[in-house]
Amino acid sequence: MSFNVDERGYYGSFGGAFIPEMLYPNVEELRSRYLDIIAEPSFQEEFHALLKDYVGRPTPLFKAERLSAKYNTNIYLKREDLCHTGAHKINNTIGQILVAKRLGKSKIVAETGAGQHGVATATVCALMGMECIVYMGAIDIERQAPNVARMRMLGAQVVPATSGSKTLKDATNEAMRHWINHPVDTHYIIGSVVGPHPYPDMVARFQAVISEEIRFQLQEKEGRDYPDYVIACVGGGSNAAGAFYHFLDEPRTALIAAEAAGLGVNSGHSAATTFLGKPGVLHGSKSLSMQTEDGQVIEPYSISAGLDYPGIGPMHAHLFESGRATFYGVTDEEALVAAVECSQLEGIIPALETAHALAVFERLQAKPNEIVVVNVSGRGDKDLATYQNRLKLND
Ligand SMILES: *Cc1c(COP(=O)(O)O)cnc(C)c1O
Repeated sequence: MSFNVDERGYYGSFGGAFIPEMLYPNVEELRSRYLDIIAEPSFQEEFHALLKDYVGRPTPLFKAERLSAKYNTNIYLKREDLCHTGAHKINNTIGQILVAKRLGKSKIVAETGAGQHGVATATVCALMGMECIVYMGAIDIERQAPNVARMRMLGAQVVPATSGSKTLKDATNEAMRHWINHPVDTHYIIGSVVGPHPYPDMVARFQAVISEEIRFQLQEKEGRDYPDYVIACVGGGSNAAGAFYHFLDEPRTALIAAEAAGLGVNSGHSAATTFLGKPGVLHGSKSLSMQTEDGQVIEPYSISAGLDYPGIGPMHAHLFESGRATFYGVTDEEALVAAVECSQLEGIIPALETAHALAVFERLQAKPNEIVVVNVSGRGDKDLATYQNRLKLND
């Protein structure tokens, strides 16, 4: 069985490109050119030079001795939190802006929820001197003021999405509408392994540098180039896709995905898509998403803004359905406990999203001779206000 995309843009029965006719020329231009562009030596050279000197790659693979002792196994942290802008998202925005340049585009449009992808997009637009428009739900603009300020400081225009629930889903719709109206000069940078083909595959390829590095770093440290487990949190699924990519066909490596269960999988306040989702089309591809009987999107809930998404990318829907990956639902409370544990045992304050992945050790029951790699998707600075409130750090 293949876990990679096929020529039609499918992962098993998931994927494809379900788009309005007016978007077809834009998506088709990208689909017909992305593989050739990525394969060009000049692209590879520029991409890897920027990952090295601008993003700060390779990110370290750190043996977490005190966590390892506590769980009686060997735990390594893949430090994506040390990337420029504080998370893995910039791996993708660097790749996509280089594609945009080669497609002859001068303007970028993007959507953002919590603002992390918006900041990573505004950053590379500043770097490349491209105009940047970021659509963001009006409610999110209020909730995420520091990231709005960052984007504006970087020279981006932040446009409020005022339709529907005024959050990520609506920002995505408005960004797509903007792209339809500006097909010639604008590229749309999607922030995760979601959207119509070829986006999920293109984003996975740019994030795959994470597992490429894990391979050679483990070879150096442990004398074998695969772990027994790779754990990552899944919002749309881009950091997980990157951490899994080079192990998809490695049967000795178990793939573990942590989804946000919010107040509990069956509480009615959750974002655990594989537990609650049904097959359907969301944002241009067929995947699993949380929806009512008549196909309306159910508003997701998670303490973590980056996991607060009602779907997952088609690659993960296929990994779930085929049983290749194991999915765990992690509650807000469990994530908070894991965030404190990582902070106080290792001196690393993780993003709330990452904390969901760190909460899995207890359930994993890895053996003393086994190797566990956790993808630390981002740093916790952006979540300090939440940590302060929920953990009563001021008392
Ligand atoms: C955005 C984000 C996520 C979730 O997005 P994926 O596409 O699922 O990786 C996870 N962690 C951090 C730190 C993020 O910023």
